[in-house]
Amino acid sequence: MSFPPGGPDEFADGFATRAIHAGQDPDPFTGSIAVPIYQTSTYAQDVVGETRGGYDYSRAGNPTRTALEQALASLEGASHGYAFASGMAASDTLIRAMLRPGDHVIIPDDAYGGTFRLIDKICVPWGISYTATALSDLDGVRDALRTETKLIWCETPTNPLLGIADIAGLADIAGVCGAKLLVDNTFASPYLQQPIDLGADVVLHSTTKYIGGHSDIIGGALITDEDGLGEAFAFHAKSMGAIAGPFDAWLTLRGVKTLAVRMDRHCDNAEAVVDLLLAHPRVGRVYYPGLPSHPGHQVATGQMLRFGGMVSFTVAGGREEAVKVCQRTRLFILGESLGGVESLIEHPGLMTHASVAGSQLEVRDDLIRLSVGIEDVDDLLADLRDALD
Ligand SMILES: *Cc1c(COP(=O)(O)O)cnc(C)c1O
Repeated sequence: MSFPPGGPDEFADGFATRAIHAGQDPDPFTGSIAVPIYQTSTYAQDVVGETRGGYDYSRAGNPTRTALEQALASLEGASHGYAFASGMAASDTLIRAMLRPGDHVIIPDDAYGGTFRLIDKICVPWGISYTATALSDLDGVRDALRTETKLIWCETPTNPLLGIADIAGLADIAGVCGAKLLVDNTFASPYLQQPIDLGADVVLHSTTKYIGGHSDIIGGALITDEDGLGEAFAFHAKSMGAIAGPFDAWLTLRGVKTLAVRMDRHCDNAEAVVDLLLAHPRVGRVYYPGLPSHPGHQVATGQMLRFGGMVSFTVAGGREEAVKVCQRTRLFILGESLGGVESLIEHPGLMTHASVAGSQLEVRDDLIRLSVGIEDVDDLLADLRDALD
């Protein structure tokens, strides 16, 4: 399928240019600058079995979705992209395409809760086994390998403690044992981190977060540079049907255009927030990979352009005080999710990570997580100061 014209190969431009133009040539029929929302289920054929632009049914392919898929592939420096109805739909499709009953997968011991639930509650009964281990420890990952290991599932930075895994190191381990390396690049976005360039086989996104960037869609993506995997993802996307609809694809594409400028602003604001937190007497630990004291700082410096918009910290006074701070902010809105233009605050122990209480993934209850938005930084700092004082 080559509509809109221009596959990723054509784009040797810089990141911000590709975010605006890759897969998004003006509409060949009308000149429309914005990629049209092809809100259609099916396509007219002039002759039996002969399509006009390679499209026969929108579960298999839709031009608005193709534009988003080409843009995302280009931004990750790869040739194949697939857009899904959610990050979890992308994860499920990936698992069906890459794993079979009897296979073993290594996952982070602080995996995204939904990923842990998918693997533990849905894949295990289906016949998959897994080991959860700290991916920051490469020797531990080597110890977790089995002959049946087919996939290493990496997240970096992780949620909510912003742990860092060495992508190139994991790619070496996967390569030696014949497993594939998947990187969930949701927290960094392709602007800050390029996993395929570092040796990953597949990149996964919840486009709900930074890629969409406006808290108005749920979406997911798989990206790979390997033709065999690309074919498998296309086949499974079409067969399982958890694809992104045209309007969601269009909103995501609209968001992606500003990814570079948004990410720089997220990073600027997060750095200022970190400075405030470090200096505040009621704050205990601050978790941010940009801090030299962060255990993953050196690896992060080697594989990330900057350190992102997510910041976690602990407050004196335990759970009760942490809950109060979360309810006292005015601009930082109390809510789950992350990566949108607006700043969010949450209590992982009682909110995003409540379902992992009592498991290996449990988080301390004096922890607060911030998704630092792109508002005026002085307003954000004043809001946090008021809530902490
Ligand atoms: C949100 C998220 C997901 C799941 O994506 P949905 O779009 O909510 O289905 C997966 N991984 C990470 C790191 C996430 O933050």
